[in-house]
Amino acid sequence: MKLRVLRTAPEPETIPPMPEAFGADKLPKLVDKQGRRYTYLRFSVTDRCDLRCVYCMPAGGEDDHASRPELLSFEEAARLVTVFAASGIRRVRFTGGEPLVRRDFLRLIELVRRGTAIEELVMTTNATRLAELARPLAKAGLGGVNISLDTLDAERFTRLTRGGDLRRVLAGVHAAIDAGLEVKLNTVLVRGETDHEAGRLVDFAWSVGATPRFIELMPLGAGSDLPASAKVSAEEVASMLGDRIARVPPAKRHADSVPRGPARYLAAADGSPNRVGFITPLSHEFCDTCNRVRVTARGDLRACLASRRAISLRDLMRAGASDRELAWALNWTLSTKADGHFFHDASVDEHQHVGMSLIGG
Ligand code: SAM
Ligand code: SF4
Repeated sequence: MKLRVLRTAPEPETIPPMPEAFGADKLPKLVDKQGRRYTYLRFSVTDRCDLRCVYCMPAGGEDDHASRPELLSFEEAARLVTVFAASGIRRVRFTGGEPLVRRDFLRLIELVRRGTAIEELVMTTNATRLAELARPLAKAGLGGVNISLDTLDAERFTRLTRGGDLRRVLAGVHAAIDAGLEVKLNTVLVRGETDHEAGRLVDFAWSVGATPRFIELMPLGAGSDLPASAKVSAEEVASMLGDRIARVPPAKRHADSVPRGPARYLAAADGSPNRVGFITPLSHEFCDTCNRVRVTARGDLRACLASRRAISLRDLMRAGASDRELAWALNWTLSTKADGHFFHDASVDEHQHVGMSLIGG
């Protein structure tokens, strides 16, 4: 069964007028009607990418990229981060598309670091440009990188990314470690292609001082064109890892004081601090503990990856909204957020979908 997420522009939302007392003393924290607190913002800086991973993008690339004026400027993005921070967001992850293809991305990190009280600033990248940029990014205040790495076989990497060069990515991984960034290696396994590499990927990650994580293939974007059988579940991966891992969660680390994302971790069996992460949006829904909110490269606020609607924060800002009015839009959108995603909902129109690179993965 193929399930897809709506691709068409979301229904325009009318935000109710801001109550007079809203945020008059202090902006309220972002909490929804289920009591979920929002502390983690995933912020896309571009919908473009230099790779075409088979489960993410069509071979010819997406066909509705934002034009330059449609994109948020770095100043607009930094302002939004300030408003989110004042509303309780503690951790920001820049993503895309590929964030490092956005020209001068380093300047955004500098702007946000200088102007906001965000506790953790991190990014997700394919690492093709990280060898040159890891050190300057770390110096500008980036704390960590999640790097996508699905195979250690150079030929397979080129095929699955439709043209990527594994050597550049591995150079990026090493540069990130050398620059002192916290590195996680994110893998989406595809059955029949890369499932036999799970153990090798874990060994590689641990050998360089990174944390390996396995993300379940989702029926989003080009991923919805792969058969359901291509998905490799977390249970299967754990059993492939055999005696590398203990069946217990690792001890809590100091860095975990900032609320984390949805990964569940298992400790290495050898008693070392190594661990393996699993992100399982389909087999174990984590919606009830969701703490994240997304902004797309166009400045659309999405309460969920699978949201069918969005608020244009860009249009509000360009129409002269104050910080309080922006915060009201965030509060109102999240307070009306759906309880869960609809990846299992067969009534979702199969012919309309949007991939992770357009929303911000
Ligand atoms: N280009 C960067 C990268 O690849 O790390 C950041 C954006 S990418 C869209 C973010 C993450 O989304 C990657 O880890 C990628 O593997 C994941 N992703 C993309 N499409 C997916 C799908 N259909 N199912 C699961 N994960 C997906
Ligand atoms: Fe690009 Fe990342 Fe999508 Fe791969 S997963 S095509 S690197 S945006």
